[in-house]
Amino acid sequence: MEKQQLLFTGKAKSIYATDNEDYVIMSFRDDTSAFDGEKIEQLSRKGEVNNKFNAFIMQYLAKAGIPTHFKSLFNDTESVVNNMQMMPVECVVRNVAAGSLCRRLGVEEGMDLSPPIFEFFLKNDELHDPMINEHHIETFSWASADAVAKMKTLTFQVNAELSKLFADAGMILVDYKLEFGLFKGEVILGDEFSPDGCRLWDVKTREKLDKDRFRQGLGGVIEAYEEVARRIGVTL
Ligand code: C5P
Repeated sequence: MEKQQLLFTGKAKSIYATDNEDYVIMSFRDDTSAFDGEKIEQLSRKGEVNNKFNAFIMQYLAKAGIPTHFKSLFNDTESVVNNMQMMPVECVVRNVAAGSLCRRLGVEEGMDLSPPIFEFFLKNDELHDPMINEHHIETFSWASADAVAKMKTLTFQVNAELSKLFADAGMILVDYKLEFGLFKGEVILGDEFSPDGCRLWDVKTREKLDKDRFRQGLGGVIEAYEEVARRIGVTL
């Protein structure tokens, strides 16, 4: 497959066309952003770690029957993925209270959430990704009712698969964000799954092993990502 022109630049990834219109190349950069792009730094090796981490997770989910956009690794920092029409909504599942849930509802960080909580957010930095529900999505045509139902089902399926994967490696999957797109009419998992878009705590010490290390200035960000990758068996 041949890499062609730049199509889109996001906060941490760029998308390039290929010579096959069904596929694009997703390029993971070292740029790391938080607070809707207000804090940005380059973290050496992050692009490579997240590319390989994401490839591992997407292949793991595909084996479990969850449709994903991932086709193959292209090189250390890039992957070939389906050329999808992304839906502008973020799907979040929370198993343990943290982050914006605690700020919004005054819940104490670390509280177990049973059953897990599902939330939709609008993908819009200028508006600071506001929380939305099914009604907003339907009325503003951000996705069809069928696609909404499918996104919810798939996001919970991912929770079952990945909570176990991380638990078996001594970690708690606290929460995570997924994005979906349409490819030839089918709802498919897109974007990425990496420690940039989830919270992972060590089960014994509750040490944070995810992007909260960057958000909270705790240091050792990439070292933590590499530790998570090593524990679940990603080859870096
Ligand atoms: O900030 P909040 O607590 O709502 O985030 C919930 C989960 O979604 C976290 O794992 C966070 O990393 C992820 N997230 C993300 N991108 C966003 C918002 C949240 O990856 N724009």
